[in-house]
Amino acid sequence: MNSPYPDRNRLRELYRLPPGLLETVPHDLASVLGGPTLIHLPGDREPPLFVSVLLHGNEPVGWNALRSLLASYRQGFGTRQLPRALSLLIGNVAAAAAGVRQLPDQPDYNRVWPGSESPPTSEHVMMRQVVAAMRRRGIFASVDIHSNTGYNPHYGCVNILDNRYLHLATLFSRTVVYFMRPLGVQSIAMGRLGPAVTLECGKVGEQRGEDHARAYLDACLHLPTLPQHPVATSDLDLFHTVAQVKIPETLSFGFPPGRADILFDPELERFNFQELPRGTVLGRVDPSTEVGLEVRDEQGRDVGSRYFSVAQEELRLKRPLIPSMLTREEAIIRQDCLCYIMERYNDRLP
Ligand SMILES: [Zn+2]
Repeated sequence: MNSPYPDRNRLRELYRLPPGLLETVPHDLASVLGGPTLIHLPGDREPPLFVSVLLHGNEPVGWNALRSLLASYRQGFGTRQLPRALSLLIGNVAAAAAGVRQLPDQPDYNRVWPGSESPPTSEHVMMRQVVAAMRRRGIFASVDIHSNTGYNPHYGCVNILDNRYLHLATLFSRTVVYFMRPLGVQSIAMGRLGPAVTLECGKVGEQRGEDHARAYLDACLHLPTLPQHPVATSDLDLFHTVAQVKIPETLSFGFPPGRADILFDPELERFNFQELPRGTVLGRVDPSTEVGLEVRDEQGRDVGSRYFSVAQEELRLKRPLIPSMLTREEAIIRQDCLCYIMERYNDRLP
């Protein structure tokens, strides 16, 4: 039967690890698995921990952490049973083979989950299948593992301010980000089934990120329950994402030395998670161009004039703010965004 969708977008579902999978590097997963694959492994406790890795093909941290962890349960004679069942989604293996976040003809695999507002694709269908499969099984918790390209601390993201979700996040880091947008991300969809977190494990390629993610996943597999009691406000730094900043297609940008409509501070990444005072200079602006950044709040409204101004050829902050995800990677800035704007949120803890 002819399918309207390319076969590489068909979800595979397995009930054991294919031979050799734990030795397979992200680049080779596509040839071993053939496409995105959901693997269910048994454990001493049910329901399973759900973990997704490689939703972005250039972020190997989750897969490397998990295969190292699973290999440790295989050492010696035979295989030790996991302390809890595990359902594992290995996401964009085609992009991983190419070493990119997503292929040019693919949507972002972390914007196509139920709740997404983007035009429907076969990837939307696939993620609906994943959520349906996990709804049938039930989940203990959900963990989606990422790294980023800028200099950021390790942190967890939640989309619901619920104590169990906050405990799941603070098990990874005291830095926690609460966000409602962008829509269509894994943790919003899985958060409807149970406690869900997105992990940001530092810069791509850092061993420390893999070690941290591995220890965290092992701790999650050993947890009997997630506490309902409040997280002490002294135990976490909660931030709320209030806006996303993009650079309009019509503007060129870069870093000195060079020529562009905006030349950003070369130390831009150092601003991440810092409380920047009003007047902070982010870059120099070409006097012949009209510079306006595209800043959207959680309701999708353009709020650029609230945060940024141009004076004396400098792009400045109009009010104090805390940025995250600032990066020097120009392709990522174009594909995703320049940064997110956050505010402190500890006073809103449940
Ligand atoms: Zn990512």
